[in-house]
Amino acid sequence: MRGADSIRVVADDAVTMDKIVSLCKRRGFVFPSSEIYGGLGSSYDYGHYGVLLKNNVKGRWWRSMLQERDDIVALDSAIIQHPRTWLASGHLAGFTDPLVDCRTCKLRFRADHIDQSACGRKPSKHPGETPDCDLTEARDFNLMFETTVGPVKEEGSTVYLRPETAQGIFLNFKNYLQFSRKKPPFGIAQIGKSFRNEITPGNFIFRTREFEQMEMEYFVPPDEAQRWFEHWLDQRLNWYLDLGIRPDHLRLRAHDADELSHYSSGTSDVEYLFPIGWSELEGIANRGNFDLTQHAEYSGQKLEYVDTATKERYVPHVIEPAAGADRAMLAFLVDAYDEDEIGGEPRTVLRLHPVLAPVKVAVLPLVRKDGQPELAHEVYRTLRDHVQAEYDEGGAIGRRYRRQDEIGTPWAVTIDHQSLEDRTVTLRDRDSLEQIRIAIDELGEEVERRLREPWTSPKLNA
Ligand code: ATP
Repeated sequence: MRGADSIRVVADDAVTMDKIVSLCKRRGFVFPSSEIYGGLGSSYDYGHYGVLLKNNVKGRWWRSMLQERDDIVALDSAIIQHPRTWLASGHLAGFTDPLVDCRTCKLRFRADHIDQSACGRKPSKHPGETPDCDLTEARDFNLMFETTVGPVKEEGSTVYLRPETAQGIFLNFKNYLQFSRKKPPFGIAQIGKSFRNEITPGNFIFRTREFEQMEMEYFVPPDEAQRWFEHWLDQRLNWYLDLGIRPDHLRLRAHDADELSHYSSGTSDVEYLFPIGWSELEGIANRGNFDLTQHAEYSGQKLEYVDTATKERYVPHVIEPAAGADRAMLAFLVDAYDEDEIGGEPRTVLRLHPVLAPVKVAVLPLVRKDGQPELAHEVYRTLRDHVQAEYDEGGAIGRRYRRQDEIGTPWAVTIDHQSLEDRTVTLRDRDSLEQIRIAIDELGEEVERRLREPWTSPKLNA
């Protein structure tokens, strides 16, 4: 048995964004999009392990919203909606960022992000700081992607790719009151792609023009709004903590009065300490009755709740936790990234919470002969009935462990000559490196048992 004493932690904060980008490409999590054509800035394709990891993030979100509660129902609404949606929501008039152009270097910047941007001629300076800089006045730039429906571009054919999933929920509020037999407080949850023509996308998958959101609108009686706002602040912060994010890297930040949308009486962001500094993971807002009132006015439909017993009627207030699946995945990757040494050899390891890890268990025959691959295949087929498993027989065992460590696989099963004699295998733990001998028949249940155990990041004790 090998214990934790053979590991030496090299650095707690070894992680940089460059290291994450390079690991993601090397190990098939995320690739720059359209690379063979020279790439398309800030557009990414998710590879095999990226798909598995992001699915696990989304799966845990659904689980916390649907499976563990009985007051929330699911929706998957269209990306292209009636254009009046965006008139009513205020996006057509107000979903803008202030844009400045530099007449010298021809680059564009967000006026409110100048202090985080680099001058096109002298990247060590901010735009406007060199004598050559020639910046225009800031003008409003609408972030919605516009397209047309139908074969002819004519008046009324302009539509938009949704910049948030939330509006699809408000558009369906009436349907849900009718079919779901829910009454406030209740919520409608949705995960889906959103599109924003960001002026300065960047920092890998932190800010892209196409991304996935996980949003839930929670409809409440007006006098209960504050209580539910606080409930959701608590729930959403704990969601990240339960999935292993280190508490000292996570915080809630309440918006100042001048940051609030005009309709919001309170908004707080869940922020994570990325290598680029504290940044938003999720916004939780008390939106009042703004959205339903606006859509009622623009559609001419009544969007209110009527209590059939008391005849009381009101427009519910809305609490909205709005998160990004890609940003959350980036935070989990950053929080998990670690480097250490095993027996003098450097190792990169993703210390992901096991429930998030793309692959839960790897099955590795020690050698590619003597009946070991056959038995290993049998073990693999059994395990994949329980969890996402992977079979790997190529190369030295040490290299195969290293590969699994880099994609964050929490457990590896090794089949050796003894396995053929007594049907036992070794089960290795990614973090403690502990190896136990266990009967093949007990493996599936053991892995499932370990998956149910509470987990804290080993980086906390480093
Ligand atoms: P930011 O201030 O970072 O632009 P926001 O406050 O505009 O974000 P919201 O409209 O509240 O973002 O969207 C909810 C969540 O959707 C964000 O917290 C983030 O996780 C995600 N998100 C928003 N824009 C992007 C983007 N361009 N790329 C990736 N994720 C995004």
